[in-house]
This record gives sequence, structure tokens and C-alpha cells, in this order.
Amino acid sequence: MFATHAVCTECGRRHALERVYRCESCGAPLDVQYQYADISPAAFDPTCGSRADGIWIHHDLLPASASYAVTLGEGRTPLLRCERIGQLLGLSCLLAKDETRQPTGSFKDRPLSVAVSRARELGVDTVTTASSGNAAASMVAYAARAGLRAVVFVPSHTPASKLLQIAASGAKIVRVTGSVSDSMALAHTSAREFGWYNVTTTFENPYSVEGDKTVAYEIAADLGWRAPRWIIVPVGAGPLLAGIWKGFCEMQRAGLVNMLPRMVAAQAAGCAPIARAFRAGAGVVLPWDSPRTIASGIQDPLAGYSQDGTYTLKIVRQSLGTAVAVSDEAILRAIRLMDEAEGLYMEPSAGAAVAALTDLLQDGSMASGDEVVVVSTGHGLKQPFATENELQDIPEISPTLQSLRALDLDTFA
Ligand SMILES: *Cc1c(COP(=O)(O)O)cnc(C)c1O
Ligand SMILES: [Zn+2]
Repeated sequence: MFATHAVCTECGRRHALERVYRCESCGAPLDVQYQYADISPAAFDPTCGSRADGIWIHHDLLPASASYAVTLGEGRTPLLRCERIGQLLGLSCLLAKDETRQPTGSFKDRPLSVAVSRARELGVDTVTTASSGNAAASMVAYAARAGLRAVVFVPSHTPASKLLQIAASGAKIVRVTGSVSDSMALAHTSAREFGWYNVTTTFENPYSVEGDKTVAYEIAADLGWRAPRWIIVPVGAGPLLAGIWKGFCEMQRAGLVNMLPRMVAAQAAGCAPIARAFRAGAGVVLPWDSPRTIASGIQDPLAGYSQDGTYTLKIVRQSLGTAVAVSDEAILRAIRLMDEAEGLYMEPSAGAAVAALTDLLQDGSMASGDEVVVVSTGHGLKQPFATENELQDIPEISPTLQSLRALDLDTFA
């Protein structure tokens, strides 16, 4: 293993790679450091090795020994060229990093594969997480595979479709009143009280973020070892965005890519603490009151850990990127468009990235020739969005050509 220690992203304090969470001095996110000089550039290459090893083909760049790896063959998702929707929006090179086809249907399989592997290595018997749904679905799958006991805290408003997936694993699920921040607080205190290992993927667990880096390695490799101009990421607290950025920084340091991408944080207008701070030119992110959006995966008010948002904001600025807030209506239009024009079915949170793209093209931040990657973070089946009316409008007929002819097929929406 080449991971050596973790440093605080705010005050720089060093931490040993033990059961650490946030900085013990200031509470800011920790960042795992490696002996990069000893890591071969081949460690970044996602094409060598077996698919069954998942992201662990990059084990030199991950903070757990490969012998403890818990994998479901996550990672190695395709970077799909979206010509039709690019044309519709006026963009010549749009690509979708399709994380909807991960083992449990969202990118969270990457961070949870790492955090649960680390849990095994640390010798714990119970893992816990707070989650808006997708991280919990990943966590219970990896915990099951590792033979660990799992306790999950989710907000009471979690979509039923996400709860069903989690419940199928037989994990202990607890619904907690309030926002996801209240679930976070309870996961934090109960982990302390009962000795459980907390794998929550805000920046609470410093190992999980390392799994997100592998998205960057795959994008760069698919583009012939370079970065796209922009990467748009749906953001709650921002570990995915931070992980992708870190991955590109590592590859630049290793001489594999020349340029770095500009990172865009896409948030829902009903819960946009990072986009609000960016717009205001503020240096610090503050918690959001009364979060309200259909984008359940990014509905994170950051109450009690707004430093996570501040860290993400810092990366957005450092990358010369931007942060945008998009309405629920724009999100629904965007996912509809992605499905109708490209056959990609994504959940509302993922649609925020596509909706942000529309805004950035309109306000001139992006040019029509820019190469843009949107990260499609979660599958549409996670939170299906068709309205009641749409289902009622589907005709039912007897199985004859005559009844089929009686329908006016051209009027179908
Ligand atoms: C968790 C999640 C996000 C947000 O990711 P963070 O890195 O935690 O901010 C975006 N989309 C989906 C579908 C998610 O599940
Ligand atoms: Zn600190």
C-alpha cells in the first residue's frame, strides 16, 4: 500500500491512517496522501486486469490493501458520446459518464467499495452510514459481500423505491425524522457510542472519497489520456466532485495529462448551499434552511458539516469552474430529454448536471465547441419520475390489428 497518512484540507494537521474521520483540530475534511514517487503510471490505467476486480485494478492508488478488497466489479463505466442531445442543445461534443450501470445503480459503489474494504482491514464487525438512499444501497451490498453487519440511517422522506432496494439486503434500516443532516448526526453519535465504523460518504469517511478518483482515471483513459474542458457533477456535499478533481491532479503530477478540467457543481435550487456561496463570492458555505427538491440524492443542507461544502467550493474555484442551481422543473425536463434523445434513463439528481449544462450554454459560460462531460450519477429506476397522468394515457387494447389501427399512432406523445 502506498497511502501514507491523511492531512487536514483546512489546517494541514497530519493524521495516521487509522479509524480517523474529520480533522481532530478543526473538523474539516481529511485528504489521504500517497508516496506518489513509487507508484507506476500503469496504476492509473483502467484497461489492464480483470473486470471482476472492479476499481481495485487501481489498488496502488487506493487506501486499503488489495487483499482486503471488497468488490462487485464496480467502475469501468462507458463514456458515451451524446450527439443527438448535443445537437439539440448546440454543443458539438457532449459526453455522459454513465454511472447508472454500476452494481447497485449509482456511482456510490466506488466510495463504498473502498470504505467497506477499509472497514474489513480495520477489523470492525459493524458498519454504519447515513444516506439519502444510494450510498446506503451500496453500503449494504458491500457489507453483505464482506460479511459485516450493517446499520443504515435514512431521512424519513427517502423515496420508497430506494428503500426497497436497501431493505432487500436484510440490513438494519432506521428512518430518521428531519433532513439527511439529522441522519448524519445520529450515525456519527451512534458510531461513537456503539463502536461501529462510520462509512458515510460526505467527507465524514476520508477513505471513501478515494474511490471517487477512479472516475477521473477512466474519463482520461477514454479520451486518450487528457482531460475534457468541463466536467459537470451533481453535488450534495461534493465528494464525487472532489474525488474527480483529485484524480486529475494525480494524473497531471504523474505526467499522464497536461490540462485539468473545469469542475461544475450542479445543485438543486431548493437546496443549493454551495451554488449560493459561489454566486455571492463567499469563502465559506453556510447550511441551507428547509431543503426541498425532487433531487433526493443531492438534497443535503450540510447542517453540522458545512465545512464539507466550503472544501468543495474551494475546489470549484481552484479549477476555474462554477456552481449552478437548477429548478426541479428544469431537472425533470433534462432527464426527459436524455431519455427521449439518447435512451439514458437517470434519476432526478443526475438530471441536475444536464439541466446545469443548458443554463451554462445560455449564459455564455460554455461555448458550443467545448468538450463537456456530464456525470450521470444514478439510475432512473432508483426514483422513477413518470407522473400518474402519463401512465393513465397509455392505451390498452385487445390483441388485434383492428384495435391497433383504431388508435391514432401519430398522436402518441
Ligand atoms: C450521492 C449522490 C450525488 C451527490 O454526490 P456527493 O458527492 O455526495 O455530493 C449525486 N447524484 C446521486 C444520484 C447521488 O446518489
Ligand atoms: Zn484541521
